[in-house]
Amino acid sequence: MTELERIRHSAAHVMATAILRIWPEAQFAAGPPVEQGFYYDVDLPHRISPEDFERIEAEMRKETKANHVFERIEVSREEALAMAGRGELAALGPRSAPSRFKLDIVQNIPEDEVITLYRNGDFTDLCAGPHVMRTGNVGAFKLTHVASAYYKGDEKNPQLQRIYGTAFKNKTALDEHFAMLEEAKKRDHRRIGAEMGLFAIDAEFVGPGMPLWLPKGTVLVEELEKLAKETEFAAGYVRVRTPHLAREKMYLTSGHLPYYEESMFPAMELKAENGEECSDRYYLKAMNCPHHHRIFAAEPRSYRDLPLRLAEYGCCYRYEQSGELFGLMRVRSLNMNDAHIYCTEEQFAGEFRAVNDMYLKYFKIFGLEKYQMRFSTHDPAKLGQKFVNEPELWRKTEDMVRRVLVESGINFIEVPNEAAFYGPKIDVQVWSAIGREFTIATNQVDFAVPAKFGLTYRDRDNTDKTPLCIHRAPLGTHERFIGFLIEHYAGNFPLWLAPDQVRVITIGEDEALVKYARDLHDELRAHGVRADIDLGNDPMKAKIADAEKSKVHTMLIIGARDLEAGNVSIRIHGKGNLGARPKNEAIGDLLLQIRERMA
Ligand SMILES: [Zn+2]
Ligand SMILES: [Zn+2]
Repeated sequence: MTELERIRHSAAHVMATAILRIWPEAQFAAGPPVEQGFYYDVDLPHRISPEDFERIEAEMRKETKANHVFERIEVSREEALAMAGRGELAALGPRSAPSRFKLDIVQNIPEDEVITLYRNGDFTDLCAGPHVMRTGNVGAFKLTHVASAYYKGDEKNPQLQRIYGTAFKNKTALDEHFAMLEEAKKRDHRRIGAEMGLFAIDAEFVGPGMPLWLPKGTVLVEELEKLAKETEFAAGYVRVRTPHLAREKMYLTSGHLPYYEESMFPAMELKAENGEECSDRYYLKAMNCPHHHRIFAAEPRSYRDLPLRLAEYGCCYRYEQSGELFGLMRVRSLNMNDAHIYCTEEQFAGEFRAVNDMYLKYFKIFGLEKYQMRFSTHDPAKLGQKFVNEPELWRKTEDMVRRVLVESGINFIEVPNEAAFYGPKIDVQVWSAIGREFTIATNQVDFAVPAKFGLTYRDRDNTDKTPLCIHRAPLGTHERFIGFLIEHYAGNFPLWLAPDQVRVITIGEDEALVKYARDLHDELRAHGVRADIDLGNDPMKAKIADAEKSKVHTMLIIGARDLEAGNVSIRIHGKGNLGARPKNEAIGDLLLQIRERMA
């Protein structure tokens, strides 16, 4: 957990303390930190509403003022069960009813795991931690909303009240957060997406969570792909293409089945030609990796073929719960800026460095000044359970990753015990222009799955070895990344990315002037510029207002004086007039800005 996550999770304990002071019968379930803050699930006959927040917050303030220590206590399974039975977990003391969710959680803790409690003042909770030192470290907090959620996300279980809040180190940070959310509302990607005609979600006919890219949104998609293809080509990647589905065997081998089955669309069952029996099962792919592994396996490989960098903007399908779907941010069909790098241990550090350099290059293009890499590592105590049992490989790759991050001067934090099962991973967090945080991409090392697929290369010494695999997706998915960019730019995309790059606007209907404007428009189109032309007889003011409203990046306005001098008058969306310039100079400058992907 990061420091902010520890503050927020600790705030959840403080909130539970406060709720129990008002409603001692409250039964708590889970209370983790989340992207924007924290929540705690509670079962309580009283329906908590925003009207109750002030009262709860007042009790919370007493608790943070008291500045109690968060005390970590190790207990035996028997003790934990006995305490839950007496209603003492997530409670201020013994109660008449058992702490029933905590009882269930204790019963599901694996035999060999240490059980810990955390105590602040008279509140004791079952919790793995970690926490901040004292309740006073929860500097500023606010409850935000209430939702409902099933215990463990299963609709067969009781429905609980999910109380959300957020917390920061101090009041200034808290205030900045809410000011940023206000601005984010104005920049909501769903609203701007609809206004600009970028994408549509047709839940009735196509399905929820499956965005349709409209022509202007498709421009964004294709510009991003062009950027990725050029960048990856220069970095020595090769492109591949794979189908959207695969046989069951693929996902049994990769381990997606059964572990990931809930997140996949259900199987398509094929009938045998003569009868009713199911002869085969296919699944829509939830990840591109297995297909790429089969491309690696499609030909014999030698050490001379490595590193092999297979890239594809692959389309995946994930069955997100309908309650989780959100605009472009949480979807069921997603196009990923994917690639898998197969390499030897010796090549690993160099490949990993190159991937990082690519991230930094992209950050620069998009003007992302604030970013952070979250480096998740393994816990040696959990080898063979939570993490694949390869102690040497874990140590070596984590050391290499850490060294590369330090040497490249990259801003990163290390989070123990959060690696993927098959290797360390890096989540890339970026902050939009208004300071909102997004996780857009991941970069993972994999030393387990290539072996499962039996991938080998013939080494110098004529033995067969298993390659390491780096999964990386710097531009994430089109859906999430474009959702992020819409907010980042408030829809005012830089010229290279703007769906409408240039509009030629005429003042007057003089024949020579119209011809001049048409020729200019044709010339821009011939250079691949997304230009259109407004020859209508509306007043200039109305034409400009229309172009501004559609967020056309550059307006080239042609009046009688421009015609005479061979000029164009330039106006930039949201910035105003730049004055007149010779036509060829203006065109040359536009082409340069586009080619160099200037901000
Ligand atoms: Zn806790
Ligand atoms: Zn992958």
